[in-house]
Amino acid sequence: PQPGSVGYAIVGLGDYALNQMMPRFSRSARSHIAALVSGNPEKLRRVGDAYGVPADARYSYEQYDRIAADPRIDAVYIVLPSGLHADYAVRAFKAGKHVLCEKPMALNSADCERMIAAGQRANRRLMIAYRVHFEPHNIEAMALMRRGAAGNIRFLRTEQLSRTDPASRPAENWRIDRALAGGGPLEDYGIYGLQAALYLADEMPESVAATTYRPANDPRFTQVFASVASQLRFPSGAIAQLMTSYDSNGSNLVHVRGDTGALIMDPATGYSGHKMRLEGRERRDIALGDPTVQFARQLDNFTDAIRDGATIRTPDEMGLRDVRLFEAIYAAAETGKTVPL
Ligand code: NDP
Repeated sequence: PQPGSVGYAIVGLGDYALNQMMPRFSRSARSHIAALVSGNPEKLRRVGDAYGVPADARYSYEQYDRIAADPRIDAVYIVLPSGLHADYAVRAFKAGKHVLCEKPMALNSADCERMIAAGQRANRRLMIAYRVHFEPHNIEAMALMRRGAAGNIRFLRTEQLSRTDPASRPAENWRIDRALAGGGPLEDYGIYGLQAALYLADEMPESVAATTYRPANDPRFTQVFASVASQLRFPSGAIAQLMTSYDSNGSNLVHVRGDTGALIMDPATGYSGHKMRLEGRERRDIALGDPTVQFARQLDNFTDAIRDGATIRTPDEMGLRDVRLFEAIYAAAETGKTVPL
């Protein structure tokens, strides 16, 4: 690593870490992979060799607290199942490390508050890995909506839909296990629709109504919801309709309808392949180059925060804000009542 480069311990060597984030470290000039934490010794060996991570910087979960004594590690990047984020973040702060934590920040607001307090006590930074805030199409969409390219926003419609393999069971798939995934699709995928509604409306909702669906007799959905639909009302009068599911034909759509135009992002928030179209007075397809810069730019932001005190674009309070909105959505669905915020 270059002098002054920030060293990260990757915590959890799963699909997203191995196939998306780790290969992108080479595109962040001031960040490097310094250590690995995994429950799988074979993976630790193979991935450690591939990334040139020294044998004494490969940790099991049982050894995790020992990172406190490892000066090669400045920060941890937590890419574990969501229900484990809070405990591993708090332990990292106890070890004196900074924390980049995957979305969702945690499964309830009490855990988020516990993470924030631990970071403050340790005087260390905490960022939630909302990569979309570093993706060129989404950044341009925020700017377009802010300058009224669709006029006054009336509706935001988001669909984050996927289909969980019919053979999947909670014992083998953490995404449908309540302890690790909370309510399921909303925390995992619907979070992108919620985020988009907030950063495109550029305001906070004043009330929430919602419906959840869990089919009887489907072994995939004994613990989590199959589908969640929610409706947010904003002070400006804009209304967001958010749909998310683990039991639907796939979709990753964000659609904004204003009084003079519309913005259609489809797909909106993936790793690459974004498509965006503006309709109305200005009418054009918007292509903005390489969406995969989002991974390294996210790392750059956190590294600059650690090294130089830079402002974090997707801070812990944003993670907490979203988890509180999940709680309001579930409360609205449970009571059948509109929940004021
Ligand atoms: P995976 O299931 O592919 O990987 C999770 C890894 O966590 C496992 O491989 C395992 O690593 C480790 N782990 C530790 N304890 C457990 C446990 N009890 N059950 C299962 N795995 C465990 O999940 P993803 O990589 O898809 O997701 C990980 C995190 O990243 C989640 O929080 C998710 O929300 C987030 N994510 C973010 C994305 C984004 O675009 N920002 C995209 C995808 C996921 P090991 O074998 O090394 O111990």
